[in-house]
Amino acid sequence: MERLLEIENLHVSFQTFEGEVKAVRGVSFHVNKGEAIAIVGESGCGKSVTAKSIMRLLPSPQAKIKQGSITLNGVNLVNKKEKEMTRIRGFEIGMIFQDPMTSLNPTAKIGEQISEGLLRHNKISKKKAIEHSIKMLEIVGISQPEKRINQYPHEFSGGMRQRVMIAIALACKPNLLIADEPTTALDVTIQAQILHLMKELQLKTNTSIILITHDLGVVAEMCSRVVVMYAGEIVETGSVSEIFANPSHPYTKGLLKSVPRLDMLKQEKLSSIKGTPPDLLEPPTGCSFFPRCEKAMKICGEYKPGFEKTGDSHHSACWLHHPMAKEESTC
Ligand code: SF4
Ligand code: MG
Repeated sequence: MERLLEIENLHVSFQTFEGEVKAVRGVSFHVNKGEAIAIVGESGCGKSVTAKSIMRLLPSPQAKIKQGSITLNGVNLVNKKEKEMTRIRGFEIGMIFQDPMTSLNPTAKIGEQISEGLLRHNKISKKKAIEHSIKMLEIVGISQPEKRINQYPHEFSGGMRQRVMIAIALACKPNLLIADEPTTALDVTIQAQILHLMKELQLKTNTSIILITHDLGVVAEMCSRVVVMYAGEIVETGSVSEIFANPSHPYTKGLLKSVPRLDMLKQEKLSSIKGTPPDLLEPPTGCSFFPRCEKAMKICGEYKPGFEKTGDSHHSACWLHHPMAKEESTC
């Protein structure tokens, strides 16, 4: 499969009054053309920071990419000038955020907001842009699009506004769509509709998707691969079936125990992971999950675990999977 995006050894830090918060530490993963992957983890694990790094939308000047590369279609985005990034955002990468109300302009008509990107990135007339906007609204399942383009965001429901965001993000046919918690603010039925719509459009247009979510429950429907992040690092990667049927990192196991599963006949009681993630002002030298891990061994607090292969396309950064590990030596 051809690669669209390749992230290698990404390090992102935030400068604060207390010091440097190392929010993303050595993250590497890739997205193939036409593939949908998920990045999952608790809030603050670095998933949104990773997404914002790809878009180069990190808050400036406090946040900085300290190291690493982000290669889209063979081009490294890390040192791109803002002018070039403006073209890339929207045209090559589309983005959908959690709350469409904060991303949509409350004072502009929906049609104008969809047309804006089209006019910026293409040499077309305003009339053509509006025609295309109507088509986009139709594609995302909004009825009476001719009437709807003249309405304002407050005249749309939450689910409809998220459909509009998808229309805006996909209007210029980007190669990559980054969706950061796109359905978190919506109720469950609407959530399922939006995810279904994204999946359908992805299959039709061959757009690659990065779905960012804290909710493993929404991943199975949409994605083929999962990247699990914890405390700024990747701790496990694998296909959806590997991660769901056979999670190998204790953190992923904990995450899975905290979501209701429809595919399981009987499930242990839902539980949340005890404790809190480490302070990224002073990241731990050993495994970041050490203080919360029920399986922790002595080595875990002292040395960082490397990635071990735990399945076909399955890797886990945990000492338990080291060939020399003895699981019974719990400390
Ligand atoms: Fe737990 Fe050790 Fe694995 Fe970290 S390396 S997840 S502390 S067993
Ligand atoms: Mg976030």
